Amino acid sequence: MPVLFVTGGSRGIGAAVARAAAADGYDVALTYANDATAASDVTAEVETAGRRALAIRCDVAREADVVAAFAALDDAFGAPDAVVLNAGITGGFCRVDELDGAMLERVLAVNVHGAFTCAREAVRRMSTAHGGRGGSIVFVSSRAASLGSPGEYVHYAASKAAVNTLTIGLAKEVAREGVRVNAISPGLIATEIHARAGRPERLEKIAPQIPMGRAGTPQEVAAAILWLASPAASYVSGAVLDVGGGR
Ligand code: NAP
Repeated sequence: MPVLFVTGGSRGIGAAVARAAAADGYDVALTYANDATAASDVTAEVETAGRRALAIRCDVAREADVVAAFAALDDAFGAPDAVVLNAGITGGFCRVDELDGAMLERVLAVNVHGAFTCAREAVRRMSTAHGGRGGSIVFVSSRAASLGSPGEYVHYAASKAAVNTLTIGLAKEVAREGVRVNAISPGLIATEIHARAGRPERLEKIAPQIPMGRAGTPQEVAAAILWLASPAASYVSGAVLDVGGGR
């Protein structure tokens, strides 16, 4: 059975990826930061779909956690076929002239440092140059990287721009080693990320500004991620695909 590894798979877009992957026939290893109950709910759904599932506690900002999470994946399922690097935080809402240094450090640690260390561990397992059998990496970026998100979270937007550059550069590094690397840029998606960062009204407020007039669903993002991860996207690498309702 093919194996898919997804970071931040306990809730939101990552949980939708885990469910869609199980439906597509993958065994699923997912990580979570704090919410063990949400993680075990998702692994139970994967198992109900007839696939193997593993939940691993991992703060992607901590290199030791990332190394341990991939080691747990090795022990349980072996090398992954698809790796979805989804874990991310906004850090909350503020202007640049209101930034708190510790918050900025945390956003960059989770969104940028975490993406790099996870990608490193994935390449070490999948690249044919490391004895692997190839595979696909999909980063979860954001439309914020292009929009800049003034007055909301330029810090978050900039962290996702770094993820886009990582996607483009890494794709070229491993293109002849059997590994495709792409990113998805979701627009406004209906998950808990907005309320947990202190703006529960954000979905309703911004939806009218979106060309399609609505927020997207985690399932709509997951479908695009699963396509990029699959052999159906065999000539797609270095792409940053918008899933933003036209925004
Ligand atoms: P979410 O509902 O808040 O879920 C976040 C997931 O990431 C949870 O599984 C959470 O685990 C995990 N997580 C948080 N911090 C972590 C850390 N330090 N290490 C490991 N895992 C961590 O968020 P979401 O909306 O699904 O967002 C997923 C990704 O999509 C993020 O990268 C986000 O930036 C991006 N995105 C979202 C939107 C949107 O509108 N929702 C738009 C564009 C891009 P716990 O359950 O344990 O907390």
